[in-house]
Amino acid sequence: YDLRDEDLKDLNELGQGNGGSVKRVEHVPTHTIMAKKIVLIDAKPSVRKQILRELQIMHNCHSDYIVSFYGAFLSDPNICICMEFADKGSLDGIYKRIGAIDIEVVALVALAVLEGLTYLYDVHRIIHRGMRLVLYLTASGTHLPPLDIKPSNILCNSKGQIKICDFGVSGELINSIADTFVGTSTYMSPERIQGAQYTVKSDVWSLGISLIELALGRFPFADSSSDDDSDLSEFEGTLSPSRPMELPPSKSKKERDEKKAKKNKRKSKGHIVNEPAPRLTPEGRFSRMAEEFVDGCLLKDPDVRKTPKELLQHEWILHAKSSNFDLEAWASTF
Ligand code: ADP
Ligand code: MG
Repeated sequence: YDLRDEDLKDLNELGQGNGGSVKRVEHVPTHTIMAKKIVLIDAKPSVRKQILRELQIMHNCHSDYIVSFYGAFLSDPNICICMEFADKGSLDGIYKRIGAIDIEVVALVALAVLEGLTYLYDVHRIIHRGMRLVLYLTASGTHLPPLDIKPSNILCNSKGQIKICDFGVSGELINSIADTFVGTSTYMSPERIQGAQYTVKSDVWSLGISLIELALGRFPFADSSSDDDSDLSEFEGTLSPSRPMELPPSKSKKERDEKKAKKNKRKSKGHIVNEPAPRLTPEGRFSRMAEEFVDGCLLKDPDVRKTPKELLQHEWILHAKSSNFDLEAWASTF
């Protein structure tokens, strides 16, 4: 597709997140329905062009477990990212509509996310060896493309396919919108909260949190807006990810207030580091395999936590792989 804004007809809004808003659109010349994500980027033209270049990597991502990419373009002051439209929406919306998700479906979600993550890291290795090295050096202190796994980034369609979207393929994009991301951080692993490097295993933590949220039908951490400030001073200095790249100017009062709000929100994350990890509860309600898998995702020490590839061999996942549960029929019920 040679995407131009004037060829895209707005149909309806799909949602608003911290990173921007998403609309269902029609690419009129080809009658293709797409999801168009609009991200406001407050950065110099050179940075915006760099983001656009980095996003082109997405053209090489082809997997049943990854939302397809149609293209991205600048539409001042926004960057527009066009991707496959998932007609059943994201899993957060689904569980909020139909309640806690059947654990058999949750296992298939885990399988899809692990397959998607494993695919991305394999692609990453290829890219890293190739011409895209610079991208990973500019990414926020990481060598892997960060991918925020959370229910709103796991999409479902009426064919019963489950796919991940919104992974941090562009280091510059991550830098530019980092200051407007607020909500996502509650899915962050203890090591990331403490400022350590992002690894594949950070995604596994976020997956564990997301699976509990889906199976229980609620976010597993208590409402963090009631700031508990305990034990936080020790993290104060290490909370922000190291960002070697020059940041876009952010001087307005609104932005400063947003930053403050974000900092307060982060302040309440001490419990992720200090409290025991959440679990699939009550004990005995779910299978031992499911409990064990989730516990394994939520090991606080990233050194003992498994990688997505290793977790694909877990018996709960192998069991899900061989199940004949009909996701298409499931998706037709809502
Ligand atoms: P967040 O993921 O933080 O909720 P986003 O801006 O990424 O914020 O997305 C907003 C909402 O738009 C999501 O919650 C999701 O329900 C919906 N959405 C995003 N991408 C798609 C897509 N490709 N197809 C259908 N719905 C989507
Ligand atoms: Mg999203």
